[in-house]
Amino acid sequence: MDISIVGTGYVGLPAGTGLASKGHDVTCIDIDQEKVDKINSGECPIYEEDLPELLEKMVSEDKLRATTNTEEAIRDSDITFLAVGTPMKDDGDINLDYIKQATKDAAHGIKNKDSYHVFVVKSTVVPTTTEEEIIPILEEVSGKKVGKDFGVCMNPEFLREGTALNDFLEPDRIVIGELDEKSGETLEKVYEGFEAPIMRTSLKAAELIKYASNSLLATKISFINEIGNMCKELGIDVYEVADGIGMDSRIERSFLDSGAGFGGSCFPKDVRALINFMEKNNVDPKITESTIEVNEKQKTRLVDLLEEHYPSLENKTVAILGLAFKPGTDDIRQSPAIDIISELKQKGADVKAYDPEAIQNMKERHPDIEYTESYQKAIENSNAALIVTDWAEFNQISRKDLKSMDEALIIEGRKIRHKLDDGITKGINWP
Ligand code: NAD
Repeated sequence: MDISIVGTGYVGLPAGTGLASKGHDVTCIDIDQEKVDKINSGECPIYEEDLPELLEKMVSEDKLRATTNTEEAIRDSDITFLAVGTPMKDDGDINLDYIKQATKDAAHGIKNKDSYHVFVVKSTVVPTTTEEEIIPILEEVSGKKVGKDFGVCMNPEFLREGTALNDFLEPDRIVIGELDEKSGETLEKVYEGFEAPIMRTSLKAAELIKYASNSLLATKISFINEIGNMCKELGIDVYEVADGIGMDSRIERSFLDSGAGFGGSCFPKDVRALINFMEKNNVDPKITESTIEVNEKQKTRLVDLLEEHYPSLENKTVAILGLAFKPGTDDIRQSPAIDIISELKQKGADVKAYDPEAIQNMKERHPDIEYTESYQKAIENSNAALIVTDWAEFNQISRKDLKSMDEALIIEGRKIRHKLDDGITKGINWP
């Protein structure tokens, strides 16, 4: 099929590349000319495992191309995915400006088109948005009738950054929210080459499935962090407890790694948006509110632990190892590292930071700290190192590295646990 994707970010690009690899002809649309030029020259504009190689292959085989011309790309395709950002506003609601604008741009593309077209909302939007915000724009701008001239689906994306391409290609399930049967049938054809079970449902149920999934995963993390904080008081290893809980097939081990809390572009914003949405619908969001509250405190617990060792951080040099919100990505959106660095700066510490992929992005948030080209350089002559992201290379930190520090103190905010002397390495929720 001829597919167009509006928004070529962490979702749109892996999705577009993945669909091209399944034999579809894909046009990626973005307003960012630099991104478009990079893609057309076979260069991947974001860091994601396996994506650069497949992207280059798909571009060279002419299965994937990028453009800034939305109208033309929509006109020349059968189905369009809307995958632009829906970031969080200050009040916790989602900002619909980008998706509304993208919808307007896309609707122009079917104005003079005679054949049936399907629009698929892939961006994460709160229940009823597709029906109440997106469809009216599509009808008004195109002058066409939904259900007759064009169809609409809501197809939430569950991929994880870091493993986005593989998650997209091998999902646990594909949820298709559909306006009507014809829309759903058309989208199901796109996923013909996929092995995952397909669930067909209403537009608003699909929208809610995405929010409920992310909020439940975030709640698992906050729950284990709360248990972890208690473990620390009792001298119990929380990872052992998590292993014990996770052996129960009803619970499952994933998302039970206690640590510096969750970040990223999805969990914090999706949980907050769900809270607001529930309140607007007169439902008391007790659990989801606590999920956020626990996480906010957890993010800077690393600094609390550091202060147990150094009551004053004034002029102490602290190395931050890991800036991305998780390994395998250069994305720093809502990363705990942002708050940790702010807090350290405010307390007078000198911060040196290292990350294998995310330095460039963090420089825009914290331009005034020192960035190093290796973790060794970051910890050299420092008074303490905080591991914020569990990049595999931090497992290699050795006794030799520790000798280069002014004082050998490492506090791990993630489950890495390389074998160093007790007393040198402290875990956020370890005994
Ligand atoms: P992103 O910010 O990485 O990418 C969005 C892209 O859209 C940018 O490249 C931007 O230039 C482009 N854009 C904005 N307006 C446009 C327009 N009018 N026309 C064309 N392009 C336009 O966002 P993302 O992380 O890919 O997220 C997209 C959506 O998917 C969001 O709703 C998000 O919540 C959801 N989602 C994200 C993830 C994730 O892990 N990042 C996972 C699942 C779902």
